[in-house]
This record gives sequence, structure tokens and C-alpha cells, in this order.
Amino acid sequence: MSQAEKMKQGQFTNPETPGYVGFANLPNQVHRKSVKKGFEFTLMVVGESGLGKSTLINSLFLTDLYPERIIPGAAEKIERTVQIEASTVEIEERGVKLRLTVVDTPGYGDAINSQDCFSTIIAYIDDQFERYLHDESGLNRRHIVDNRVHCCFYFISPLGHGLKPLDVQFMKAIHNKVNVVPVIAKADTLTLRERERLKRRILDEIDEHSIKIYHLPDAESDEDEEFKEQTRTLKASIPFAVVGSNQQIEAKGKKVRGRLYPWGVVEVENPEHNDFLKLRTMLMQGQGQGPEPEEMDKDMILQEKEAELRRMQEMITKMQAQMQIKPDGAGDVQHV
Ligand code: GDP
Repeated sequence: MSQAEKMKQGQFTNPETPGYVGFANLPNQVHRKSVKKGFEFTLMVVGESGLGKSTLINSLFLTDLYPERIIPGAAEKIERTVQIEASTVEIEERGVKLRLTVVDTPGYGDAINSQDCFSTIIAYIDDQFERYLHDESGLNRRHIVDNRVHCCFYFISPLGHGLKPLDVQFMKAIHNKVNVVPVIAKADTLTLRERERLKRRILDEIDEHSIKIYHLPDAESDEDEEFKEQTRTLKASIPFAVVGSNQQIEAKGKKVRGRLYPWGVVEVENPEHNDFLKLRTMLMQGQGQGPEPEEMDKDMILQEKEAELRRMQEMITKMQAQMQIKPDGAGDVQHV
């Protein structure tokens, strides 16, 4: 089924058209029951403290993942090493179940030695991958939980004039392991011109430092024009400049998620105000794709392991068959 057909059937609905029902619009269906079928998605969020990571996740999935988080003071921050916090929620939308794990990295960029925090994050990504590979090639493959990090939102400060050395180093350190999606945080603190300038600058620097970021696949030629246009718009908006909010505000007679200023309301879900909806659409379109980079090698390893298992199973079947036809009646293996 093409993406466009899926969209029409409601699996992926265009959030920029009226009547859109996205995961985030169905808070009542957020539940914690185990998911029998459906898909799993692990999103990592990385960036300095205070850039709005938890607010954005809350806005995307209407789920407060960290109701009891304690914000450390400045002195504590310097001492702190990065931590890994994985929270899982199960969300259902129109019969499609999503098991979402958000991996946050509080303390990132706070410590004096940033290399230390890199190694903790990288070890986590590698660990999840190893675990998946191990489960995939094991004999009991029915209940595998795929906790590989599928995507990493990397938050860039709106206050700098582009990427900081830390941003460059970190993205380069993980770009072969996970799909990196750079986002400009707190876009409401920038004018439209400043946003455009910052976006261009960041793209130039990404290019200059040969950082590999996630590229949405081109729409296939048989997709309809609307879908193609949406894909083009999404691609042209990278890095997404986003606004998040935990508050509902009254705007034009409607309650909307937004940020209130003396001069008006910045609406989170208004594509003219920021790229939040584009980011969410991209997330939905990209669903189901595993980590892209280095996938080939790992796929090959998996295939080899599968072939080995098949050979072993064939051998066992042959051995069983031989035992069954033995005249001395070693029949007790018949029901294996
Ligand atoms: P985190 O440490 O990266 O998880 O950041 P938080 O989500 O805790 O947000 C830190 C502060 O920034 C809070 O006071 C938020 O209300 C505020 N904030 C979050 N998102 C935005 C945004 O898009 N724009 C602005 N102006 N402030 C934001």
C-alpha cells in the first residue's frame, strides 16, 4: 500500500488538514495495557537542559512522562553526569497501537567534560542494539521487544548563531548509529527572518562537518500530488523550528495548545507559527523504519544467523526422521 493510500485509510492522516486525528489528539486512549500487536518506536531526545525537550514530547504525545522530575540547581549540574531515562507509554489510535519509548538524557551538556556524557549515551544505543540482535537470533523470537533507538531529536539552542562545538561533536558521534533529526528549540523566541537565517546556517554547518542527518525518503512517483507536495514541504523545512507548550490557551474562541505573549498567542499546532506539525507528520511518515545507517551490515548478520538456524533446524528434522524409521522402535521421539 502506498503512503498516500495509508493516509487516506487513516493510518497516516495529514495533520495539516481539518479533521486530523493524530496520536496526540486522543489522550483518553493512552493506556498502559500490554500491546499484542502494533509497532514499537523509541525516540531519544538530546540537548542542553532547559531547551524544552520534555515540553515538546508532552505536546507531541499529550503524555507527561516526567511528572515528578526534580530540576537540579546550578552547582549540582556541574557535578552531574548524563543519565539515561527511558519511559514507555502505550498509545492507541484507530486500532493502531504504538508502544512509545522516550529516552531522555538529563544532564547532557551540563558537565564540564562533555565526552563523558557521549560515552554513556553511545553505550546505551549500542546496548539496545546488541540486545535486539541477540533476541532476533535467539530461538524464542516471538516476544522480542524492539528497544533500539530509532530516532534522535537533537535540540539546538535558538540563541546561538548556529551549531556549537558540542552539537557538532555529538551528532557526529551518533550519526552512524541512529537517525538524527535536528530541531531548533523555542522557535517563538526568533522572528521568521532569524529562523530562516539560523536554519540555513545550521544546514551549511551540517554539510561542512559532514554530519549525516535523517532524510525523509522522496515520495515515490506513483504517490498522489498532495502527498508529494507534503513531502517536499517537510524536506524544505529541515531543521524544524518548533514550539512546545503544556498549556491550553483561548485563541479565536478555541482552546489551543500555545504560549501566551502580550502581543498574542503562539499556537503550537499552527503550521504558520512553527514547524511542530511538520515534525509530527515526519515522525508518522517515518514510522516503521528501523535505524537506517549501518543497517546493511546488521541485516547481513541477521540473515546469516537466520540461515544458520534454518540449517540447524533442517538437521534436527532429518535426525528426527531417521530416528523414527529405526526398526528398534525409538518411537519416543516421535512427538518432538
Ligand atoms: P528540558 O530541560 O529540555 O526538558 O526543558 P523543559 O521542557 O523542562 O522546558 C524548560 C523551560 O522552557 C520551561 O519553563 C518551559 O515552559 C519552557 N519552554 C519549553 N518549550 C518552549 C518553547 O517552545 N518556547 C519557549 N519560549 N519556552 C519553552
